[in-house]
Amino acid sequence: MPSYVILEKCDGCKGQDKTACMYICPNDLMVLDKEKMKAWNRAPEMCWECYNCVKICPQQAIDVRGYADFVPMGASCVPLRGSEDIMWTVKFRSGQVKRFKFPIRTTAEGSAVPDGGFGEVCTDLASQCLYNEPDALKLKDLPTVKK
Ligand code: SF4
Ligand code: SF4
Repeated sequence: MPSYVILEKCDGCKGQDKTACMYICPNDLMVLDKEKMKAWNRAPEMCWECYNCVKICPQQAIDVRGYADFVPMGASCVPLRGSEDIMWTVKFRSGQVKRFKFPIRTTAEGSAVPDGGFGEVCTDLASQCLYNEPDALKLKDLPTVKK
């Protein structure tokens, strides 16, 4: 379900150097037409369908072209992102509307511990060791093939 920009809603992120959708797309697909101040997905066939751009757009200006089996016959699934939570409005083809609200963070902004609280296990990024394992897996040792 590749994303597309609803042009009437897009304000080009008010002319910032990099728009929110450009910043978040892991595949660098979103581009901004600086004359028209409208963004677009330049290669929908390359879209990972990750929904990142949809969720981050401050104008709710990005939607996805739903596959028929997921959003058939006029149904829709639209996120509204707040600073603390995200609200999904799901419209079924019968016209029934349901809303689901989920928190998007469990810690106050800026307070997340980078190592997840597991302590500094491995600081050499070039090393073969895995950062938080086996502690993060709640194991004493990583399973290995016995020789
Ligand atoms: S994030 Fe939304 S408003 Fe900003 S440029 Fe992209 S589509 Fe437009
Ligand atoms: S859905 Fe993901 S991959 Fe596709 S354009 Fe948006 S951010 Fe990029």
